[in-house]
Amino acid sequence: MMRTSVLRCCKAAVPVAAWLGCVVGAYAQHVDRIFVNGKIWTGDPAKPAAQALAVSGDKLVGVGSDQEIRALARAGTTVVDLKGRRVVPGFQDSHLHFPGPSVNSVALDAVTTLKEFQGTLSDFAKSHPKLPWITGRGWGYAAFPNQTVDKKYIDAVISDRPVYANERDGHMGLANSKALQVAGITRATKDPPNGTIMRDANGEPTGELKEAAQGLLRSHVPQATPEEVYESLLKHMDEAAAVGLTAVQNASWSPRDQPLYERALAARALKLRFRFAPPILPADGRYPRDHVLKQPLTEEDLATYKHLRDTYRGPLMKFGSIKGMLDGVVDAGTAAMYEPYVGGSGTGIPFWEQDDLNKAVALYDKEGFQVLLHAIGDKAVTMALDAFEYAGKTNKTQGRRHKVEHIEVPRLSDLPRFKQLGVIASTQPMFANPDETALQNFAVLLGPGRAAIADSFKLFDDAGAVQVFGSDWPVMDFSPIRGLSVAVTRMTPQGTPAGGWYPQGRVSVEAALRHYTRDAAYGSFDEQIRGTLTTGKLADFVVLSGDILTMPPAEIVKTKALLTVMGGRDTYRDKAF
Ligand SMILES: [Zn+2]
Repeated sequence: MMRTSVLRCCKAAVPVAAWLGCVVGAYAQHVDRIFVNGKIWTGDPAKPAAQALAVSGDKLVGVGSDQEIRALARAGTTVVDLKGRRVVPGFQDSHLHFPGPSVNSVALDAVTTLKEFQGTLSDFAKSHPKLPWITGRGWGYAAFPNQTVDKKYIDAVISDRPVYANERDGHMGLANSKALQVAGITRATKDPPNGTIMRDANGEPTGELKEAAQGLLRSHVPQATPEEVYESLLKHMDEAAAVGLTAVQNASWSPRDQPLYERALAARALKLRFRFAPPILPADGRYPRDHVLKQPLTEEDLATYKHLRDTYRGPLMKFGSIKGMLDGVVDAGTAAMYEPYVGGSGTGIPFWEQDDLNKAVALYDKEGFQVLLHAIGDKAVTMALDAFEYAGKTNKTQGRRHKVEHIEVPRLSDLPRFKQLGVIASTQPMFANPDETALQNFAVLLGPGRAAIADSFKLFDDAGAVQVFGSDWPVMDFSPIRGLSVAVTRMTPQGTPAGGWYPQGRVSVEAALRHYTRDAAYGSFDEQIRGTLTTGKLADFVVLSGDILTMPPAEIVKTKALLTVMGGRDTYRDKAF
C-alpha cells in the first residue's frame, strides 16, 4: 500500500524540490548507512563514477554525489566517511573450490626450496602429534632439485607416519614411503585408467602420483569430520571477506558439504554469495577427482540437481550450473594438446571422447543448466567449444552462458568462437604469475610459441568474449588484488621479470575490475541484482587502501581491502579503517 502511494506521489507533476522530497520520503525510514567522501568506481556505464552510497537493508538506495546522498540521511542513519578512498563493487571469484583445505592440513604454498618444504612438513607433524596422516597441499616443482619430486625427500623428515601432499594444482601429489605402504602401492601396482604412478629407472614408485592414480591412496586418508569441514568453511570465508570477495562461483560441491552450507545459511554465517557447480557424477557417486571419467548422467543425479536449483535461487545460495573436466594441467603434462609437450612427453590425457562429451553437455543444456568445462590444453578447449556448439544446435537453445574454465593454451582460431557461441571465458590471472614454476616448468613444457599466448587475457577481450576472473583457489591465492595485479603487470610481487612476462597479454585495471565484478555477475546470471554499484542492486562493495586506478601498476599488489560489505553487512573491517 505504502509503495503505491509513493509511486503515485512520484509520478505526479510536482516541482523538482517536492519530487526530490518525495523520493527521500520514500526512503526516510530505511536508510541505514550512508558512505560519503569516496572515489567510487561503480562499473555501471550509465554512471561510472560517484562519491557516495546509501544503503538500506541489503540494497543500495542511492549512488551519487555527496550532496545527493547526504540529503537521504535521517535520524538514525549512520554516516561513514570514506576519507577519499577508492571503492569498487564487491569482487567475485568465478572459479574456486570451497570449503577448501582442512584446518588440519599443512599449507605448502609459500615453500620455495627443498629445505623449506621439509621444514614446514616436519614442523607441522611435530605440532600435530595425534594426526594419523599428515596431509597438505601447495608445493611447486621448482622447489625440488631438477624439478623432480621423490618420496625420499619426505622420508628424510617423516618416516613413521604416512604423508601425502598435493602439488598446487591438485592434479598430482607426493607420498612418502609409509603412505605408499599403507595404500599398498608397489612396483607391481598397475597404473589406473587416466592416472600414472611415477616410477624410477628400476620401476620402483617414486611417490609421485598423477591424476586418477591419486585415488589409489586417497581412499586410505581419513576423511575430515563434518565439524572440521564446517570450521574450515568459516575460516576460509573470513579470509575471503578480508581480501574483498563478496561472491564466488564454487567449482566444487558434494552431498557431504551441502548440509554445512545450509547450516551456515541458517546461522546467517555466510560471508560470501555462493553459486555452486556440482560435478558430473559417476554412477557410483564417487567424489571428487575420479568424476572426470566419461559417465552418463543418472536420473537420480538430474533430480538432485534440479531440486537444488529450484530450492536455492539466491541471492546467498544458488545452483543451476554443473561442472565437468576434459583434461589435466600443463605442469604435469596432462593438459590435452594438439602438439606434444617439449621433451616428447606426449600430448596429455583427454578425459572424454567427443561424442560422449557432446551427449552429456547436450543433456544438461536441454535441462537448462549452465555447463562449466575445465579445459586447459588447446585440444581440450576445442572439444569444449565443439560440445557447446553441438548442444546449442541440437537443442536449439541459446543464452545458457556455458563456460570454459582455465583455457590456458587456446588455439588462436578458437578465440572468436567464444563470442559467436555466447560462451564465457573463465580465466585465472594468477596462472600468469611468472614465478619459478611458471618459467621453468610450465613455459618449458609448452615451448616459446605456445607459452607466448598462454594465459594471455587480452586475447579474450580482443576477441569480444565475456571474460570472468577467478583464482582456482586453493590452487592459487584467492586475493583479487593479487590476481588483478598479475593481469595488469604480468610480473611477480617482486617485480620480475622486468617489463612483464609476455606483456602483450596485459589488460587494463578497468578491464580486470570488470572481469571480477560486472562480467562475473553476468557469468552467474546475477547482473540484474549485483556486479555494479547501481541504485536498487545489492549493497556489495569494497573500500580499498589505495587507488588502484591511478597508482603505478607495480604498486597495486600492496593494496588491501579495508572494509568489505556484503548485502549491507560488514563482512570484514580492517583496524586501519
Ligand atoms: Zn578448479
